[in-house]
Amino acid sequence: MKKNIFLLSIMIIIGTSALAKSDTKNDNPFFKKWKTPYETPPFNQIKPEHFLPAFQEGIKLEKNEIDAIINNNQKPSFKNTIEALEKSGSFLDRVNRVFGGLSGANTNEELQKIARTITPMLSKQRDDISLNPKLFDRIKVLYAERDKLKLSPEQITVLDNYYTNFVRSGANLNDEGKEKLRKINEELSMLSLKFSENSLKETNAIGLVIDNKDDLAGLPDDVVKAAAELARSKKMEGKWAFSLQKPSFIPFLQYSTKRDLREKLFKAYVNRGNNHNEYDNNKIVSRITSLRVSRANLLGYKTHADFVLERNMAKNSGAVYNFLNLLWKPAIKRANAEAADMQKIIDAEHGNFKLAAWDWWYYAEKVKKEKYALDESMLRPYFKMENVRAGAFEVASKLYGIKFKERNDIQVYNPDVKVFEVTEAGGKHIGIFYSDYFPRDGKRSGAWSSGFRGQSNIGGKFITPLVYNVGNFSKPTGDKPALLSIDEVNTLFHELGHALNSLFSNTTYPGGKSVPRDFVELPSQIMENWALEPEVLKMYGKHYQTGKTIPDELIQKIENAKLFNQGFETVEYLAASFLDMDWHTLADTNERDVQKFEHDAFAKIGLIPEIETRYQSTNFSHMIQGYSAGYYSYIWAAVLDADAFQAFKETTLFDRKTAAAFRNFVLAKSGTEDAMTLYKKFRGREPKVDALLIRRGLN
Ligand SMILES: [Zn+2]
Repeated sequence: MKKNIFLLSIMIIIGTSALAKSDTKNDNPFFKKWKTPYETPPFNQIKPEHFLPAFQEGIKLEKNEIDAIINNNQKPSFKNTIEALEKSGSFLDRVNRVFGGLSGANTNEELQKIARTITPMLSKQRDDISLNPKLFDRIKVLYAERDKLKLSPEQITVLDNYYTNFVRSGANLNDEGKEKLRKINEELSMLSLKFSENSLKETNAIGLVIDNKDDLAGLPDDVVKAAAELARSKKMEGKWAFSLQKPSFIPFLQYSTKRDLREKLFKAYVNRGNNHNEYDNNKIVSRITSLRVSRANLLGYKTHADFVLERNMAKNSGAVYNFLNLLWKPAIKRANAEAADMQKIIDAEHGNFKLAAWDWWYYAEKVKKEKYALDESMLRPYFKMENVRAGAFEVASKLYGIKFKERNDIQVYNPDVKVFEVTEAGGKHIGIFYSDYFPRDGKRSGAWSSGFRGQSNIGGKFITPLVYNVGNFSKPTGDKPALLSIDEVNTLFHELGHALNSLFSNTTYPGGKSVPRDFVELPSQIMENWALEPEVLKMYGKHYQTGKTIPDELIQKIENAKLFNQGFETVEYLAASFLDMDWHTLADTNERDVQKFEHDAFAKIGLIPEIETRYQSTNFSHMIQGYSAGYYSYIWAAVLDADAFQAFKETTLFDRKTAAAFRNFVLAKSGTEDAMTLYKKFRGREPKVDALLIRRGLN
């Protein structure tokens, strides 16, 4: 089926290349107004060959718009400069957002090829704007006069962000410096693209093939079935295959009694990007981190972390290290206790070996059974994806009064994608929400939230957002629907939290917003707090066959097990955060042996051999893309989310007044004011770390 589509599109390319250029425009949906519901992307009409001409046109139009701003003879005003900048680039933004969405969730070789072509073009375009001296002159004039311009608080923030972002992008450099910066940016964007292509290849690789039935020992039926289906899809009929995507890899580690096979699969997972093949990321990581130092130096900072952190709540690397160290000691203590529990089981079974990293999931599962009488497979039947999603929607409804209605008339890029219209209690349209939860070859690993269109309200023209959540959750297998793990349930709630942040956005100028990286996970992580509350579990935890509500006894077990494995999870995460900080506090541009650097980083903090973090430099996409010197943000934001959730616990789980304050001050206004100021407006005080320590058993 896929092959046919591919052939068809080649034929179209051949067909259109013979036609005049104007005809290309005529059937390219990016050159038209979308007459779809809420102007959602017409995915049925969008073909790969439409992107390049649309990108070219978008770049050209944006360039013209910028020229018009620069060549305006009137003296700079907020309206003719900042507001005009906010309005510019809308054609390009529309193309780029659709392309970005497909590149992450539904890519193929054609799209990857286009990405390689347009990445340097877009990098150049961004630099052409941010390094434009005439444009910066206008912004500088406004910035100097900002107190006299009678601006609203949001306008002041926006102007301040523009000025700061221009300076941070090199606007104050001389011509030679600007040229250097352009080269660095272009190389960085290409390396980052190559890194993600390599990661995708290595994650989709088959980590383990089993042809002997005995080697399936311990695996639940549905895991075996999924492995058989994967093998069949890879033309290995009659065998069982395990990929390095989480839904395939984690259950194998949890249940397989074959220690040597667990080791094999685990090593394949952590070695992604480190296999000395054409997809190796070692050199790329070394080069990227070196280039980041060069860029920081050029812009007047000692390290990349200094450059990144001044815009975050943490402000500097000392504050981040202090914070990570504060958590490290109690976390490693707890992890050691967890390892001891597992070693006890191994010894009782006369295992005669020391617990290793690839044993952790297997024995953790046993501890869970022994200590908490809880087995993940007892829970999955109550976590049918559709029910969990409906549960997450219901939580949002109870908090904010909003409604979700499935829409079958809105086009999607893959049949797995489901679309919902989100409205206020009174029926007023808020935006569109797409969910795309199952893994496939063209999707990168992990889960994320983004949008095909952002909210804005320039000149009183309110634009509603189109938001999507993408995940890689357990798929339906055979006759069974998609039954999620607890981890996946949490992730689904988490991503919906990001989506609500985008859906509730109520700001005028989207481009001038600046949400600190260590604040952005607050809206998402707070949602995870509701996911496993007994009252909420009863709302959505229905057995997929009988429809019966999850029994109290099972809910109690989940409650009892809430601290289970928290030592491991915190240590694994903190180790990755330290690694990220170590890479980005380098002050020299020397290229490095990535494996040695990483080994030293983990040795320095005293990471125990029983825990090998799954986030390693050659496949640590967060560190390369978007979260450099920022992986700590998740636990920084966890202080905020635990403290914020406490506000609900102090009243009621669905307290409307508290929810309204959270929506109005935090979700709707993210990025329009200082993050701590917004938080204090919601909470009435600064956040305290206590709630997080208690939640993780680290107190
Ligand atoms: Zn997140």
